[in-house]
Amino acid sequence: MRYSKYVHIFHVENDVVALYHALLIRTVFLKQSEAQQIDAYFKTNRVDHDALLDVIQYLCANYYIVANDEEDRELYGKCIELISPPAISNAYIVVTENCNFNCKYCFISNAVQTPGVTKVMTEEVARQAVRLLQRTYERQQTPYDKTITFYGGEPLLNFDVIRFFMEEVERTKKQGYWPSDVKYAMITNGSLLTKEILESLQKYGIALSISYDVDKESHAQRVDKNGNSSYELVRQKIALCHETEVPFSLSITLSETLLKRKGEILPEILNLSPSTIAFNLLIPNKQDLQNKRYYEDATDFMIEAFSHLREIGLYEDRIMRKVHSFSKSKMHIYDCCASGGNQYVITPDGKIGICHGYLNNRKYFSSSVFDEGFDFRTQEDYLYWKKRTPLLMEQCHDCECLSICGGGCPYAADYMYGSIYELDTRFCIHAKKVLEWLIKDLYGQITNP
Ligand code: SF4
Ligand code: SF4
Repeated sequence: MRYSKYVHIFHVENDVVALYHALLIRTVFLKQSEAQQIDAYFKTNRVDHDALLDVIQYLCANYYIVANDEEDRELYGKCIELISPPAISNAYIVVTENCNFNCKYCFISNAVQTPGVTKVMTEEVARQAVRLLQRTYERQQTPYDKTITFYGGEPLLNFDVIRFFMEEVERTKKQGYWPSDVKYAMITNGSLLTKEILESLQKYGIALSISYDVDKESHAQRVDKNGNSSYELVRQKIALCHETEVPFSLSITLSETLLKRKGEILPEILNLSPSTIAFNLLIPNKQDLQNKRYYEDATDFMIEAFSHLREIGLYEDRIMRKVHSFSKSKMHIYDCCASGGNQYVITPDGKIGICHGYLNNRKYFSSSVFDEGFDFRTQEDYLYWKKRTPLLMEQCHDCECLSICGGGCPYAADYMYGSIYELDTRFCIHAKKVLEWLIKDLYGQITNP
């Protein structure tokens, strides 16, 4: 007998260790002395007292202890069967690739800053995009999350086409199949929001996410075309959201400056009263392949923020996904919708791609909304992305985060190492730190409820 290859041992405190099953996402806490006795049992096959026998029987029944490799293989096989076939759960509609800002850390700056002839979506492309989504949803009528996200550049530079898109959705609902559970969202820099636009967002049920880095120094990288700070302007627009009672979430980029100012950031988030928040780790770009220390510091900040904000019912999205997976023992297979090929990115000229990171060079954008025969389930780019999950990647099989990390950002892995099937190593640092915190946090909750 031995521990399953999926069991990882964490030191929790003084004489307590955690056995964590990376495939099943389960944790057992043992005294150090019990762990030593179990090691002795593996060597001698003898158990000296009944209490330890109970523990060993429990660990065998729950796959922590196995007799041979075959038991591990069988368990892995069963888990793999739980991976659902791809389904388009998010569609980015890039209504324009123009932007009125010139943010210094923009990871699609090539697409946004290079002049082009088809940078603004037309009504005809929007109409075809709705038809594509209608065909897609109709083919896959099993339950799964569905979101349509209006994106740019700055999407409010082409709000007329967003309106047109939503009217087209309304027409489609009356004429044929359109699922009732589709959610709508828009990610904007906020600078062009008006009362009328906020009313339209409410009318169409489009959730508003504003990219805003919370305090003046941290937000300083979000400059307009003339290099001027947009801090005050966006702040006024957030005040307008409050005035018109339109809920909004904040998308906050964890720059090095922001991490140095964490004492100011948390009170300021509370002051702004968003409905949810999402922290973005910097994505590597030409100027900056961030170092290990950055990802450690950013993760420490995210954990600290999560621990504070959960007390008032405000949950940060990225950590929450792992908390959900950990607390429900539910595999978190993909950390973004592109992984596994579950996403459309539709460009202003109607090209269909998988990941918006590739707006820069149009890699994996080989289909079009005008091709009525397009079916992502058989298209070669989507087939290539389909297996991009740690559960199907050999490099991840011995990792403690196997079922919980979702594999990070395939685009970043490609950018850094030349293939989406390489590891997003910056994300591994983040995932491992979060898992260690989750295990210790669980122990704290059990012992000090
Ligand atoms: S692969 Fe990376 S850049 Fe692309 S959608 Fe996923 S998280 Fe975003
Ligand atoms: S992507 Fe990294 S953290 Fe996630 S399972 Fe693989 S090696 Fe572990």
